[in-house]
Amino acid sequence: MIEETILNCLKTHQNEPAYLTGGVSFAYGELQRYVGAIQQALLRESSRAPVMLYGSKEIHMKAGILACLLSGVPYVPVDASFPSGRVKEMIGLAAVSMVIGDYDGGLTPVLTTREIEEAVRTSAAPSPTAIERSADDTAYIIFTSGSTGTPKGVMVSYRSVDSCARWLDTLVGPCRCVLNQAKFSFDLSVADLYLSLLRGAAHFALREDELRDFRLLFSRLKESGADTAVMTPSFAQLLLLDQSFNADLLPRLATILFCGEALQPKTAKRLMERFPGIRILNCYGPSEATFAVTAAEITQADTALPALPVGRAKSGVEIELACDGEVIIIGDSVAKGYLPPFSSSAFFTLRGRPAYRSGDYGHMKDGVLWLSGRRDSQIKLAGYRIELGDIENNLLLLDGVAAAAVVPKRQKDGEVVSLTAFVVPEKDAPITQEQIKKELQTQLPAYMMPRLKIADRLPLNANGKCDKMKLAGKEI
Ligand code: AMP
Repeated sequence: MIEETILNCLKTHQNEPAYLTGGVSFAYGELQRYVGAIQQALLRESSRAPVMLYGSKEIHMKAGILACLLSGVPYVPVDASFPSGRVKEMIGLAAVSMVIGDYDGGLTPVLTTREIEEAVRTSAAPSPTAIERSADDTAYIIFTSGSTGTPKGVMVSYRSVDSCARWLDTLVGPCRCVLNQAKFSFDLSVADLYLSLLRGAAHFALREDELRDFRLLFSRLKESGADTAVMTPSFAQLLLLDQSFNADLLPRLATILFCGEALQPKTAKRLMERFPGIRILNCYGPSEATFAVTAAEITQADTALPALPVGRAKSGVEIELACDGEVIIIGDSVAKGYLPPFSSSAFFTLRGRPAYRSGDYGHMKDGVLWLSGRRDSQIKLAGYRIELGDIENNLLLLDGVAAAAVVPKRQKDGEVVSLTAFVVPEKDAPITQEQIKKELQTQLPAYMMPRLKIADRLPLNANGKCDKMKLAGKEI
């Protein structure tokens, strides 16, 4: 069980580094005090309603996750960079009334960051304990982009978390320091979070400002001494642009675990050149199936192929293909479903086990899964999952917008490199490009913001639908 892993880890590795971020290092003993202080406040509330965890890479985020997991309180990680409109929607959907962190949007704080610091410094924070819960209870709620313009909350049970943690441990094996790239609001971070806990390893989290500043980023990478890294292929491509991203910078780096989007053979090949002997794991799975459900160890020979496999199903999960090739995920990794009001037709029961229609197309060869595209307009941009309908519907909600269509710009290999929104303003009360940008920014996270192009009308295809193919030839 994940709680035993957490408690064991906190107890056994007291003086060893637990969490490192922004140049500050916390030992497991210190982390334990943070977890104890947060848990004490959580248990005072005597409610098991979901709690929002608000922030980015600060210690209260990591400690808050552990305290919630130990207390049977579902956590909703929300990155502080998200626009206020979107955060309010998440709060409403998850029926959250309490927050850990400094959120000034009207929720009751379980503890603010100042109160957490005070509790850790002044009082003898109690040792954390595991509170009884059932395997079906919700461990966390993660929000993804929804095609209607509203984010979708995925409820993940303790059973799924336990299964994911066990699998990760066998997949990666011993490690001393795990590098984190993803925000805690993106479930890629589930992998580095559990990997570090399972082995009592250090968790080295990169902050947003460090990710944006190459010089700072490379000095942090060097300082990390990481032997394991969890990242998106887009991030690896970015790092590879700099020749100094190599084994001199990270001499101990032995494993990179990828997930979230297609890993290109070229990226894997370059990594193998820069880090001789490196183990590259290509994992696949949606948030609806708890981070990932398949993994392939990429070989040198694989890098000569046009595309890479995503591998074999984890224990506890079966992969099946529908008649049209859609990947169906069956087993204990499948989440409990979406928070209302989203209907859960993608979630169903197959042979008595939970199942999920992924929307991904694929084929199997000798038990290994290969992906070949999507059945809908969900795309990945720099590792982020985006429904084009999410952007379009948010544009249509703006006064003065008559029509809108968002088209992705793709490279030859199919990778999306940017998004362009074609917007037709109302004739009577037109809206300007600047106004659209300003208003859209209050609803969409920065990574979802498209380039804007004002159009007189949207072209139609033979069926009278918006001709996105034609627009695709006009993206910027
Ligand atoms: P998310 O819920 O953000 O993890 O996004 C899940 C989606 O990302 C999947 O349904 C796939 O479309 C895509 N995806 C995840 N991992 C891979 C991978 N290794 N290769 C290709 N696509 C992937």
